[in-house]
Amino acid sequence: MSLTVIGHMNPDTDSIVSAIAVADLLTKRGMNAQPAAQAKPAPDTEFVLQKFGLSAPAVIDNVAGKKLWLVDYSDIAQAPKGMDEAEILGIVDHHKLGDVTTPNPLEIWTWPVGCTGTVIKAMYDFYGIEIPKGIAGGLMCAILSDTVMYKSPTCTEPDKKAVDALAKIAGVDDVMTLGMEMFKVKSAVEGASMRDLVFRDYKDFDMGGKKVGIGQLEVVDLSILDPVKDGLYAEIGKLKGEGGGRHSVFLLLTDIMKEGSEMLMVSDDPGVVEKAFGKKPEGRSIWLDGVMSRKKQVVPNFEKAFK
Ligand code: MG
Ligand code: MG
Ligand code: MG
Repeated sequence: MSLTVIGHMNPDTDSIVSAIAVADLLTKRGMNAQPAAQAKPAPDTEFVLQKFGLSAPAVIDNVAGKKLWLVDYSDIAQAPKGMDEAEILGIVDHHKLGDVTTPNPLEIWTWPVGCTGTVIKAMYDFYGIEIPKGIAGGLMCAILSDTVMYKSPTCTEPDKKAVDALAKIAGVDDVMTLGMEMFKVKSAVEGASMRDLVFRDYKDFDMGGKKVGIGQLEVVDLSILDPVKDGLYAEIGKLKGEGGGRHSVFLLLTDIMKEGSEMLMVSDDPGVVEKAFGKKPEGRSIWLDGVMSRKKQVVPNFEKAFK
């Protein structure tokens, strides 16, 4: 029996590296597992893979008939095509439980921590399996990426402890310098289309029966995005009308040094933004001081506002 380990749509570093790591761990537990991804790695993920000598997982867009382990999500909306004809045997995640179902018992590892990588570190330890050096480096970077180098409110003590342990295995002395290098690559917008940028970290949500898209770009300095802001705004306007339409599309432009986000928005009812954040948007955007995490500081607010 062959298992496919696959992360969410528009894969981030966590989704890609976690698929590689869980496939390695399952294989060492005696199963036959391959990592996969729903798309090619983004530039910052490519930087991490190269740095630690890891290969990008095969890209697959249909999982019908496959036996799956999901990493970094458990929502059908984040899954590839053919999910209704696949069987899920395991989930490793750090998000709220999604809406996938299974015909048989499954193995679930999901913890309220900042990154799937932190959970996977604990899985290796639980099974007494040594973490390969390259995978340790990749998981370490996934944790730094997801927790925005510990600045995100999603970051927990176990995340920091995992980074320390993984850095030792990977032979990385200066974790924060490497994290900053990775975020500089992540910040680069040259050569990327507006479409690429909007979808770099984008998710559709069902909020009170309405389809709401929320994307996020994390940069080391918001001024990097000045030349593309008009284009990004036009692109989310276009996206709002596509595929049956959306009630709203929001794009968080997160400044990881200033620790806050400018949120670009197009919405049928801009009043939801004031309801969600207690602050009136001015024109096409709003500055949200201290907001770094879509998962913890944006999605729950909107879910309440849309109720
Ligand atoms: Mg993710
Ligand atoms: Mg994650
Ligand atoms: Mg993220």
